[in-house]
Amino acid sequence: MVNNRKGKLYIISSVAGGGKTTLINKLLNEFPDLQYSISYTSRPKRNAEVHSKDYFFVDREEFFRLIQEDFFFEWALVHNNYYGTPSSPILDAISSGQKIILDIDIKGARTVRSKVADSCSVFILPPSEEIWRDRLVKRGTESAESLQIRLANGKKELEYAGEFDYTIINDSLEKAYSDLKRIMGLRKEELKS
Ligand code: 5GP
Repeated sequence: MVNNRKGKLYIISSVAGGGKTTLINKLLNEFPDLQYSISYTSRPKRNAEVHSKDYFFVDREEFFRLIQEDFFFEWALVHNNYYGTPSSPILDAISSGQKIILDIDIKGARTVRSKVADSCSVFILPPSEEIWRDRLVKRGTESAESLQIRLANGKKELEYAGEFDYTIINDSLEKAYSDLKRIMGLRKEELKS
């Protein structure tokens, strides 16, 4: 068990299209000192994504090699692709007292909770199933097959939202963002001093 008393580790999860990437990007823009854990994935890169910024994109062979090397803090098979959180940025952030955000699925969240004392987990909920489907379709990032997988898995994932320390309903982006900042104890720079 890693002691998280010095730093603070925040797990943010949601169904695909729940709005967590938008919320996390807003946080990283407003609070440049926040750390973000960049995952490794065997999923193919989407057009707008940037290697080593959004993810480290690797093939399955490389991913399995990294598992063997004990490189990951946690890893999981999500929507038929592998995703993993590298250990060293997590341990560095915790030991140096920095706040770090992990955007991981519910299986990863369970693993991290079991390994880190005092982590804080937040599940972002879409306001309704209709709005969620609509947002995910309009996002336009998924093939028809990938969309079906994400919708089917999302329905199961919603059942586990209660395992998280906090749930936020992403009805209004601004309200969801201010709820998230409150949970994380973040305030605007000018209010800090
Ligand atoms: P996407 O392919 O849409 O970027 O992400 C699919 C899912 O994988 C999301 O639920 C995301 O939170 C999750 N995910 C991303 N990185 C990791 C990781 O390192 N570990 C785990 N367990 N899940 C991850």
